[in-house]
Amino acid sequence: MNCRGCGTPLSLPLIDLGTSPPSNAYLRAEQLEQAEQWVPLKVQVCQACWLVQTEDYTRADSLFDADYAYFSSYSSTWLKHAERYVAEMVERFALGADSRVVEVAANDGYLLQYVAGRGIACLGVEPTHSTAQAARQKGLEIRELFFGREAARQLREEGWAADLMAANNVLAHVPDINDFLGGFASLLKPTGVATFEFPQLLTLMAGQQFDTLYHEHYSYLSLSAVQALCERNGLEVFDVSQLPTHGGSLRVFVQRSDGPRRAVQAAVQQQLQLELQAGVKTAEYYATLAPAAERIKHELLRFLLQAKAEGKRVVGYGAAAKGNTLLNYAGIKPDLLAWVADASPHKQGKFLPGSRIAVVAPERIEIERPDYVLVLPWNLLQEVSEQLAHVRQWGARFVIAVPELKLL
Ligand SMILES: [Zn+2]
Repeated sequence: MNCRGCGTPLSLPLIDLGTSPPSNAYLRAEQLEQAEQWVPLKVQVCQACWLVQTEDYTRADSLFDADYAYFSSYSSTWLKHAERYVAEMVERFALGADSRVVEVAANDGYLLQYVAGRGIACLGVEPTHSTAQAARQKGLEIRELFFGREAARQLREEGWAADLMAANNVLAHVPDINDFLGGFASLLKPTGVATFEFPQLLTLMAGQQFDTLYHEHYSYLSLSAVQALCERNGLEVFDVSQLPTHGGSLRVFVQRSDGPRRAVQAAVQQQLQLELQAGVKTAEYYATLAPAAERIKHELLRFLLQAKAEGKRVVGYGAAAKGNTLLNYAGIKPDLLAWVADASPHKQGKFLPGSRIAVVAPERIEIERPDYVLVLPWNLLQEVSEQLAHVRQWGARFVIAVPELKLL
């Protein structure tokens, strides 16, 4: 396979997680009678542009079908983050009644609702029908498109040249990342700004977060790699900030290379320097993740087997994609993890891909009073342990598996 950023043949493996179904392919009860598509999950590093990327075995349109069940609005932490983002951008870039805001991967309108609430014209691009419909119910205008140069051309003709384009947690999910970024250069006004938020590679490597690797996640991004991608596609990075989301993300600010350019902020050079010092441009940097994943898998299995032997009951919380990578890599099935509770009604009643563990409503926790609650999306541990504080009444404990097994 060649690098999806620069085209160089890939020769440095990061990790091989065996095979699993796509992480978001939740099953309905009647699908339990059918076979699932198990796909190899291997991640490679490009030694020319240092883009870390999943080997491509499946097509994007088969991963993001109408059943794709991730609704952003079910996380209160994420909603607060979106509201704050809108307030900051409106102030910094003086957005007002004449401005145009376009969000790519608008999901269920979790962010644009705050733009519309300020009386600013906005449009969402969202290829998934179920989430697009949820956004329309908030009164938002949504186009069901995969974003790229062609979609940008269409929207431009319709008068949607943008002052601000937002793209949160989508850049890493795009198979043709050059076409995607080219679309931003084309749809932005000459003075426009686009922001991309993505979980950063430094955090993934430092926190041994191998469970954030999955098929739908095509790239694992450093600023160094993003800067090279932007330059190739008519964009310039002019600022960057650190965010606590997903355990440590970056927000990158870009502008058109051919516009009246803003000064590049010192934060850009600082972040690039930080990455260089960490070793993102050396092969040795990438050698630690595979052994860490194996250790984490063994620790979790040991805990689950011991709990089982002692007659304790373990359930999961949060039917997130990262949970599926961990469960399938470790080969965990309902005998060791009875079910997983999730607040989203779109996931309840379904089954996790691969492990086929049932997804239930959180109320089930009070009814069955388990001994341990394994929090699969560890980035939401704070939020979940507050929501579920009552489990301590019967002595239950929270468990996380990454970067090491911890009982709380
Ligand atoms: Zn490359």
